[in-house]
Amino acid sequence: MDKVVLITGGSQGIGEAIVKNFSSRGWIVYFTYNKSKVKAMKIEEENNNVYSFQADVSDYELAKNIIKTICEKHGKIDCLINNAGITKDKTISFMDQKSWNSVIETNLNGTFNYSKFALKEMCKRKSGVVINISSISGVIGIPGQTNYSASKAGIISLTRTLAKEVGAYGVRVNVISPGFINTEMTENINKEKFLPNITLGRFGETKDITGVIRFLSSDESLYITGQNLIVDGGLSI
Ligand code: NAP
Repeated sequence: MDKVVLITGGSQGIGEAIVKNFSSRGWIVYFTYNKSKVKAMKIEEENNNVYSFQADVSDYELAKNIIKTICEKHGKIDCLINNAGITKDKTISFMDQKSWNSVIETNLNGTFNYSKFALKEMCKRKSGVVINISSISGVIGIPGQTNYSASKAGIISLTRTLAKEVGAYGVRVNVISPGFINTEMTENINKEKFLPNITLGRFGETKDITGVIRFLSSDESLYITGQNLIVDGGLSI
């Protein structure tokens, strides 16, 4: 039977690469986006069995409806990737409350919303995998990112707790913490500043993440749950 995956934030960057990777391997792929309708339509058109929903991940009711729609159509959801995320960087004295709230609402609340409804379905079927996308910023903390670091650390903790809650149903929950990956999110970063600290001497590419996603969503990793896989080229060692 065809496998079904839902990826939040699939219209560009890491999410887009994940969408294309699952599609190329014959999965039925659903993804969400917030603003990038034109990009989302193009991805739908150019890839097999790919369907998108315009949905802000922080919208709880929309998350519920999207999971319901998928499960009514296919009777299941095999894999959820909580990928949608934003940054609004400022050191704390310059960070306004709006920037704090929007990053927490998108990154952390969004992960809660989709996990809640997808895990309910997965536990019912005693099968499924959730993979959350955190960040090295949530592990070591990066100055100027208190909102982002806190949201991403929250995702790591949420992952461990959820893994313990649903393990008895045979459902796995893991998290990936990327370092610097070349996408629109990092295009304005001063590379020269960070490169000396990256052991492998380069920023990562989206394919450095899709390989790990492929492994964690497959039966090759059936005995791995609650783990945080750091994919940062050795930045944090
Ligand atoms: P990106 O290029 O900025 O793409 C972000 C994606 O998330 C877009 O598809 C965007 O859709 C979607 N998104 C943003 N806000 C959303 C919302 N409220 N509701 C639904 N979708 C939303 O970022 P990226 O670099 O691919 O990052 C993907 C994930 O990896 C994020 O969680 C990020 O924190 C994490 N990460 C990235 C890096 C890195 O170096 N790039 C490192 C560590 C972790 P729209 O364009 O439609 O808004």
